Amino acid sequence: MSGWTSSMKLAGCDPEWKSSLMTILSESNWSEEITPIVEKLKNGDRLSLEDGLKLFNHKDLFEVGRLAKSSKKSRFGDYVFFNSNVHINQTNVCVLSCKFCAFSRTKKSKDAYSLSVEQYLSELEKYASRIDEVHSVGGLHPDWDVEYYCELFSSIKERFPSISIKALTAVEIKHLCKTSNLPIEELYRRLIDAGLGSLPGGGAEILNDEIRDKICFGKETSKEYIDIHREAHKAGIPSNCTMLFGTIENLEDRLNHMIQLRNLADETSMFQCFVPYPFLPDSTRLPEAQLSTANETLRTIAVSRLMLDNIPHIKAYRMNIGDHLAELALNFGADDVDGTVGRESIMHLAGATSSLDYDKYQLGKLITDAGGIPIIRDTKYENFSPYIIKSPQRPRRLKVINTEG
Ligand code: SF4
Repeated sequence: MSGWTSSMKLAGCDPEWKSSLMTILSESNWSEEITPIVEKLKNGDRLSLEDGLKLFNHKDLFEVGRLAKSSKKSRFGDYVFFNSNVHINQTNVCVLSCKFCAFSRTKKSKDAYSLSVEQYLSELEKYASRIDEVHSVGGLHPDWDVEYYCELFSSIKERFPSISIKALTAVEIKHLCKTSNLPIEELYRRLIDAGLGSLPGGGAEILNDEIRDKICFGKETSKEYIDIHREAHKAGIPSNCTMLFGTIENLEDRLNHMIQLRNLADETSMFQCFVPYPFLPDSTRLPEAQLSTANETLRTIAVSRLMLDNIPHIKAYRMNIGDHLAELALNFGADDVDGTVGRESIMHLAGATSSLDYDKYQLGKLITDAGGIPIIRDTKYENFSPYIIKSPQRPRRLKVINTEG
């Protein structure tokens, strides 16, 4: 990627962001209820679970959003990041049947599929000229071990050397250790040698084992999710981390989830991005799910920006929340939009209707419509290029007013 070289500022790791936040917060007026939290942030103090609850329960959603946006601005100004990617799911065959999952099939299902390496490469070839990242997660195939993935990753690298491989959720890593009879260190070593670049962080759901037993029985435990990511970081593999909300958890569960991720980020500093996304109910089997309103989704994104002071990027995952909410989320603390997404199945089978195969212009426009400056990034947030929208935007008679007023 030609453009700016990596910098602490763009990677969100410049320690100066806290003093910048103090300045930004001092320039605004805040309600009495939220002032103690503002004071903590001005002092560079970390927010507690109780602070998080206050933010979730604060009556003025827009004030919570303004606070989160101040934190985002202190790290990145108006920059908003995106990349060009495709999601290819190598198999939908899975030995588990998580209650929220609309994607998995048994081996005998009529619509079960498992891509051979050649089939996978043919699919990737359709997008290869316009992407720099392939995002691959899938079911826990009972017959696949590390050999399939090593062949897959090394073949991708051989044919498309400039494409980064972001692949495998924590439970897939656990499953591969079992089917390959390998300790995790050795598994990671082999996957890195074959070309694995980073982990997408999927499958965290809610890090509470009582809830996990109800919604995804048999998946890795909360501790295992954290341990699998810790081992990845030790092996030099950066990762994202996620949260699926709006199933059966309460607000404390969401905040405890964030705090567990924050604790690991204190140890390793290798979480790149937090991806909070609401449960989508279509075709899935969780009638007791509370579901998330737009208001709640925006608030959860804002609270994550404020709680996760050591995870630089917060994603507006447009595959799940759609373009309109993603655009608003950029004014509620998110700084990253995923992505051009040539193809995607998991969220779409669960009911997502987000457009696929965007070009850079469409994503750049979404970002500028939200008042942001689009920046193209690579998978690991190491290289950045400004994206200048070349085509004129449609003329507007009504000026779009930024939420800062
Ligand atoms: S969420 Fe993952 S592990 Fe669970 S059933 Fe679906 S594919 Fe399998």
